[in-house]
Amino acid sequence: MELGVLADKIIEGSRRSLGKGITLIESRKPEHSKDASALLDLLLPHTGNSIRVGITGVPGVGKSTFIEAFGKYLTSIGHRVAVLAVDPSSQITGGSILGDKTRMEELSRDENAFIRPSPAGDTLGGVARRTRETMLLCEAAGYDVIIVETVGVGQSEIAVASMVDFFMLLQLATAGDELQGIKKGVMELADAIVINKADIDWQKAELSKQQYLNALHILRPKSRNWTVPVYPVSSLENRGIEDIWGMLQEFKGVMEESGEFDEKRKSQAVDWMWSLLMDDLKGMFMANKNVQGIFESVQEAVAKGITTPGAASKRLLDAFRKGW
Ligand code: GDP
Repeated sequence: MELGVLADKIIEGSRRSLGKGITLIESRKPEHSKDASALLDLLLPHTGNSIRVGITGVPGVGKSTFIEAFGKYLTSIGHRVAVLAVDPSSQITGGSILGDKTRMEELSRDENAFIRPSPAGDTLGGVARRTRETMLLCEAAGYDVIIVETVGVGQSEIAVASMVDFFMLLQLATAGDELQGIKKGVMELADAIVINKADIDWQKAELSKQQYLNALHILRPKSRNWTVPVYPVSSLENRGIEDIWGMLQEFKGVMEESGEFDEKRKSQAVDWMWSLLMDDLKGMFMANKNVQGIFESVQEAVAKGITTPGAASKRLLDAFRKGW
């Protein structure tokens, strides 16, 4: 299909064409990469009209149950929801944490929801890049709430936080002293903490909320216009889910009013450009014949202490320049 036609069909909301476009973006065949970037160029004017929400939490905390409840609520009030995932775990374990079980069964049958599993078998950088681009395609297709889910392990949270407007941390009610065990780094990324499974013990969840608020109080605020709230919910019993949407709207309102919403998107776009540039440069560098010719021996010389890392880096760069 011609790219212009594919772009038009995506904008008209054809799910099949959206799927096709995403497949093109996820393809790692070099001949597809030009088409993928041309498609993104065509769609770019139709992107941006959504709220992008990141969700993280350890396996078992209830992410898919929450997203199912939240997503169904959103479609019931007229929104169109896309659910994407960043799960580079397949790279390490051979299997994916997010993708193995049947997840969000009801939401996946909802015609106003679009669920796409994490692109597989790539580095975190590669997965993040494809997810960002998929997010743009979904926006062009008219999805106005984009949820990007990730597992609560390591770097993937930073990658997701840097592509969304709002980053949500799902937690369980914990006793005060357990709070210290929660990675401070993740708390610092959060725009809200949602305590899931509050139905197990609402009182405990309320107590835990206070403890989270106290803990948040001593962290450096992420935004000058937003104080991180804590919400106990039950995804299983569908309680507190509406409040989360109310909070997101409040956030969007406050951030838009202050200009921080646009500011953040702009700086995310510029950061993204730099990270793509660095990736591409690295790719060019590693593919350079002169570099390849001496790479192993230079690396070995550094390991053995024959050359300093600084001198070695300079030598590789010289080889790269000459081979250009
Ligand atoms: P994920 O690994 O984070 O996606 O977690 P799941 O959504 O698969 O949930 C893990 C388990 O917790 C499942 O057995 C869910 O039924 C259960 N669960 C999820 N949300 C709730 C909740 O709000 N209350 C209770 N009691 N159980 C829940």
